[in-house]
Amino acid sequence: MGKVAVGAAVICAAAVCAAAALVVRHRMKCSGRWARAMAILKDMEEKCGTPTGKLRQVVDAMTVEMHAGLASEGGSKLKMLISYVDNLPTGDEKGLFYALDLGGTNFRVIRVLLGGKEGRVVKQEFEEVSIPPHLMTGSSDDLFDYIAAALAKFVATEGEGLHVSPGRQRELGFTFSFPVRQTSISSGNLIKWTKGFSIEDSVGQDVVAELTKAMERAGLDMRVAALVNDTIGTLAGGRYSNQDVIAAVILGTGTNAAYVERAYAIPKWHGLLPKSGEMVINMEWGNFRSSHLPLTEYDQALDAESLNPGEQIFEKVISGMYLGEIVRRVLCHMAEEAAFFGDTVPPKLKIPFILRTPDMSAMHHDTSSDLRVVGNKLKDILEIPNTSLKMREVIVELCDIVATRGARLSAAGIVGILKKLGRDTVKDVEKQKSVIALDGGLYEHYTKFSTCMENTVKEILGEEVSENIVIEHSNDGSGIGAALLAASHSQYLGIDESFSTF
Ligand code: ADP
Ligand code: MG
Repeated sequence: MGKVAVGAAVICAAAVCAAAALVVRHRMKCSGRWARAMAILKDMEEKCGTPTGKLRQVVDAMTVEMHAGLASEGGSKLKMLISYVDNLPTGDEKGLFYALDLGGTNFRVIRVLLGGKEGRVVKQEFEEVSIPPHLMTGSSDDLFDYIAAALAKFVATEGEGLHVSPGRQRELGFTFSFPVRQTSISSGNLIKWTKGFSIEDSVGQDVVAELTKAMERAGLDMRVAALVNDTIGTLAGGRYSNQDVIAAVILGTGTNAAYVERAYAIPKWHGLLPKSGEMVINMEWGNFRSSHLPLTEYDQALDAESLNPGEQIFEKVISGMYLGEIVRRVLCHMAEEAAFFGDTVPPKLKIPFILRTPDMSAMHHDTSSDLRVVGNKLKDILEIPNTSLKMREVIVELCDIVATRGARLSAAGIVGILKKLGRDTVKDVEKQKSVIALDGGLYEHYTKFSTCMENTVKEILGEEVSENIVIEHSNDGSGIGAALLAASHSQYLGIDESFSTF
């Protein structure tokens, strides 16, 4: 070998060595990053842990707060509002009733013909109307006039056999899913608007009076017989189809629960004891908080930057509005601290609420071998083009951690209600069933969430007690529920019966 050739070989070898060193260094850097990302994931998993023992503490805290909220106004983070609903539907209801369901940018008008025990729901019709954005921030009269006009138009389409008895007023159940201080079954003052509504002149006003005036202006003779929210509507709808229903839980954008309490067990109730002995309590459980809730720095930051810091803490850990956002926050941290998505943090990942819970749910349920759905979501939503299978697996794992915590805490909340009612143990003599009516988009569509929640209820209660606990989907019970409550609180109640006796 000549001198030149030897020199070239040496240079080549050096280059190979250098290249190899680069690869090794790159690998080391990558494995360092990967280790850091895994540490963040592991840390999240630990902090979100909900072993049964911890859940039992949450159950007890829920029960304690329920007692405190029932004892006095402002006694607890749980408002435990008295709904004035003391007459849940029995199935005997007869006649034509209306409902109006207002709780977001759409409202629904509903009419049901009830045929008593045999006939049940003979006929049901509804129409959905969207609210023009300018009416969401205008005046109270404008909004209610718009709603009353739609209602009047709907009433005008009453068909064959769909009429109220001559000389009688039509009756309406009003599902109004905004915070209201109820003053009777059919009146209540608006505390504040939420969900993008801001109509200053109606705050503090009686929303039933506002609606009634608008109906009069529209030439519609209709009486609001019951004012409720979606949770109580769901409870009523659930009870109508199953008399063992004792509570309702909504898991949608937000979350809430309502249940049937024994009236004597409500110290702050200063009215007459209802004939039924029962009273529905609107828990407003989204505002529950406890030192036993497993909260992370991500939850703290989410809360601090939210529109309502310090409020709705339970809701911020379990409901559909927030689950995807928690995942985003953890991914963002992994991108910043462990370069999980490469040297730069994907700009889209920094946008709050860009990762919605339905997208999280789609990734979590991805069963394809290469986690294609995860890859596509990352590409479409976060504009992260290339992700390895390993990265996708980490993301699925993260979705699982966040959803599992939410589902297991929801289960603890449900058991808290059962415990308050003394239905968390087996009593030898009465093996009564306890049915909880569930509704909301999160419960309905996030299968891994609802399955985990249902399994956790069983896990906390044990096999024997669980045999008597049923969780039932009350599909869209809130609209028909309000119509049923109009029937069970009708001004003509009792008249029909006395008619038949004489
Ligand atoms: P709302 O609570 O606003 O009355 P819904 O009960 O219909 O409305 O619930 C809608 C919410 O349910 C959404 O905001 C979302 O968080 C959640 N959701 C809807 N679809 C899915 C899905 N496929 N997977 C997970 N969550 C979903
Ligand atoms: Mg809803």
